[in-house]
Amino acid sequence: MKPINLRSFAQKVSKNKVAFKKYLGKVEKKAPKNLYSTMLQINKEVWDEVDCLTCANCCKKMTPTFTNKDVTRIAAHLDMTTTEFKDKWLYYDEKDGDWMNTKQPCQFLNSKNNMCSIYEVRPADCSGFPHFTKKNPTLYLHVHQQNIQYCPATYRMVEKLIEKL
Ligand code: SF4
Ligand code: SF4
Repeated sequence: MKPINLRSFAQKVSKNKVAFKKYLGKVEKKAPKNLYSTMLQINKEVWDEVDCLTCANCCKKMTPTFTNKDVTRIAAHLDMTTTEFKDKWLYYDEKDGDWMNTKQPCQFLNSKNNMCSIYEVRPADCSGFPHFTKKNPTLYLHVHQQNIQYCPATYRMVEKLIEKL
């Protein structure tokens, strides 16, 4: 597995982002029957190539959404009340109805080793990211459209979708 080079990734993204987003939009409009099985296959292949510990770009550049369950679990882990936890690190996005990180990179990212300091209790959004194996993959194509520019694994997934479909 080669370490991720975020600078060359950014160059590839600026060249192909528009075309890749368009492609995902086309798949969303007319999803092939084998999309789920193809995504499962691609998921295996991508994680043989991509080492997240050399990247952590999602934790640096994006915010997870925190469900109420996440907040309760993580606050208890940190020996805080849910109100203390929200006041310290989160804001409420009225539009989407989600709790989000106020700051980026995420306060729980250890910048020395790219590891999550609350890994065992991290938000469900983080443990499911980048959402390649969802039962109904069509519902996540617009999410991948947004993630292409931050996540090298998502970018590679789209390259493979283009090859395989
Ligand atoms: S909670 Fe952990 S996995 Fe989630 S964004 Fe923060 S550092 Fe990354
Ligand atoms: S999920 Fe994507 S953005 Fe996050 S660390 Fe892995 S490759 Fe990087």
